[in-house]
Amino acid sequence: MATTVHQEKSFRENVNLVFDIAAATLQISDGLAYYLKGVYNVYQVRFPVKIEGKVESFIGWRAVHSEHKLPTKGGIRYSPLVNQDEIEALAALMSYKCALVDVPFGGSKGGVVVDPKKYDDATMERITRRFAYELIKKDYINPATSVPAPDMGTGPREMAWIADTYMEHRPDDINALGCVTGKPVSLGGIPGRTEATGRGVVYGIREFFRHPEDRKRAGLEGTLEGKTVIVQGLGNVGYHTAKILEAEDGAKIIGIIEHDGALMDHNGLSVEKVNTYNKEHGGVKGYPDAQYFENGNAILEEKCDFLIPAAMEGVIHMENAPRIKANLIAEAANGPVTFGADAILRQKGVVMIPDIFLNAGGVVVSYFEWIKNLSHIRFGRLTRRHEVSQNDLLLKAIESNGHKIPTGLAEKLLHGPNELDLVRSALDDTMRDAFQQIRDRYWSHDKIESYRIAAMAIGIEKIALSIQDRGLYP
Ligand code: NAD
Repeated sequence: MATTVHQEKSFRENVNLVFDIAAATLQISDGLAYYLKGVYNVYQVRFPVKIEGKVESFIGWRAVHSEHKLPTKGGIRYSPLVNQDEIEALAALMSYKCALVDVPFGGSKGGVVVDPKKYDDATMERITRRFAYELIKKDYINPATSVPAPDMGTGPREMAWIADTYMEHRPDDINALGCVTGKPVSLGGIPGRTEATGRGVVYGIREFFRHPEDRKRAGLEGTLEGKTVIVQGLGNVGYHTAKILEAEDGAKIIGIIEHDGALMDHNGLSVEKVNTYNKEHGGVKGYPDAQYFENGNAILEEKCDFLIPAAMEGVIHMENAPRIKANLIAEAANGPVTFGADAILRQKGVVMIPDIFLNAGGVVVSYFEWIKNLSHIRFGRLTRRHEVSQNDLLLKAIESNGHKIPTGLAEKLLHGPNELDLVRSALDDTMRDAFQQIRDRYWSHDKIESYRIAAMAIGIEKIALSIQDRGLYP
């Protein structure tokens, strides 16, 4: 399937245009605004890897957008199309995102020009370890200052290789496991990290649905039950988002767009079945239980309650925006709607829940993982049994007064939260709180015309405040 990305400006320029509008609603000096827009530093590296007896060169970057808080945080992307502009844009988004959701990190991002589908596992391991080594050498990976995570094309496997490479080179760093997040649980990862971005997307959408005034803006009524959804990209973020919406909220996933085309079924697709097929066949073409469309991008324009772009940036642009029929666009990917498209969509009454809020779940749970690594103990280990015995005492006291506690409720109280329960509830709390901040800013400020500008303004404001409070910039 040919991907026509009609990008009016570069990704970086798109982010900066949103920044300018948001910054103009704040009381910050032009000098500070200018500083907060730019990237602090970028490291570019070319490194050789021997593959099947031949030397191949790879190019990669690590960009640090802001060090107002340390460590800086941001994923590593593997893609044949990745470039420095994209990495800088993503690093900037990370700074604003972390500030918005009160995760005390600066923003960064990394990437390597590589198509992971082209190489076997052993080769991907060599490429990853070599890139990790190049970053470690320059201190671009360090639990105290720079902590990568997964992004497009990478996952727990790559994070494990990076952590292991770091430990080889810094065996005396007691916090070595905190050098990267999104690791497998067996290597200091945290339950719920792999699903975190998708689950955070769902928590964000649920919170939006809890506010009738906001729902009304998008012309949507009721709950998520039965709402029609089209998802683009069935990777880490798209799969978990679609799966949770289908399984826990009763939403109907009527369309799934992948790199080789799209599937549609107005009665609802089985996300699990499509995912299994996609993994086995490397695409969705040939899936037997739905209508297949070779031009997947055209499915972005189908009627649905909400559209969830969860693949890549710039997919909704000035050319296709006038034909989008969704009421709501839930931005699971980074930068899926261009600045030009945003204006067209708002004019049509389409509501957008912006990326810097909606896909923050990954970095929120990465923060929990990092804290776990620094504290060298899993969450709840010291307190869970004690909590259960306290609840037991409470139940016995109530029952001794002749009151019978319903069995289901008693079981829940005596179960005690495990680490996954704690991670999910803390993520839910963060997403609810951040959306409330965004909607408060949106509804109370007449110059703020979208959640996107509201979210960006809150992010910039918090970074500016922390810089001013440190006294670095009078
Ligand atoms: P991924 O590599 O796991 O999945 C991306 C999916 O999109 C793949 O299934 C791929 O086949 C598909 N795809 C590629 N090109 C496509 C096209 N033209 N049309 C339709 N589908 C296409 O990546 P991911 O980690 O799920 O990331 C997706 C997006 O979410 C990116 O924008 C990323 O920056 C953002 N994001 C990811 C995380 C995370 O924790 N992984 C966190 C925040 C934001």
